Amino acid sequence: MSIALKQVFNKDKTFRPKRKFEPGTQRFELHKRAQASLNSGVDLKAAVQLPSGEDQNDWVAVHVVDFFNRINLIYGTICEFCTEQTCPVMSGGPKYEYRWQDDLKYKKPTALPAPQYMNLLMDWIEVQINNEDIFPTCVGVPFPKNFLQICKKILCRLFRVFVHVYIHHFDRVIVMGAEAHVNTCYKHFYYFVTEMNLIDRKELEPLVSVPRHCHEAAPRSSAIGPSTLPDPRKGLTRGGLLAGGLQH
Ligand SMILES: [Zn+2]
Repeated sequence: MSIALKQVFNKDKTFRPKRKFEPGTQRFELHKRAQASLNSGVDLKAAVQLPSGEDQNDWVAVHVVDFFNRINLIYGTICEFCTEQTCPVMSGGPKYEYRWQDDLKYKKPTALPAPQYMNLLMDWIEVQINNEDIFPTCVGVPFPKNFLQICKKILCRLFRVFVHVYIHHFDRVIVMGAEAHVNTCYKHFYYFVTEMNLIDRKELEPLVSVPRHCHEAAPRSSAIGPSTLPDPRKGLTRGGLLAGGLQH
């Protein structure tokens, strides 16, 4: 990370503390390897492929934790601009509204202001990745049978942070000079979840439909990908939300 970005992503602004891998464990080595391949050539599409001989669950685990740390940092940089007043509902433009649901207080999908939704989302992910039964840190302890299912849900929820940041707060990202950093993180995330088939295409729609609205010259291909990254500088409308929307 450059010095400028270190200043942008001031530690004090981290939304949540980072989850770290224990040095000496296999997952720490895998994490280092994944980081090294990123730093070397930045061929993100190749970097996300499961290295031969590695366990898929390990590969997913290190990426889920890494993306949580990075996306958490990104939201941390704009969270002071994401308030109940600016974002009374958790949304991604006029078409997508996300409702929170958990096994605790919100047993039914509930519309919430974005900052409240984000807090619940980050808390929930933090609980999952710190749960030894789900993300075992000891060598030889197996992952649970539903591990990939849980990771899919975590990644699906993390994707919504991108949706909200891109559509509602990208002006702040630009002011902070963090545009390239966020775009790279999103591309990496996108390549990973599609390579490993971890998020439904339907869920990825909010970030592909934006360019279609904004500039008709944008590719109309149904292929979703960073080549069609939204460019919120082109000016988005922030109309009312449609009834319904995505729930979770
Ligand atoms: Zn917001």
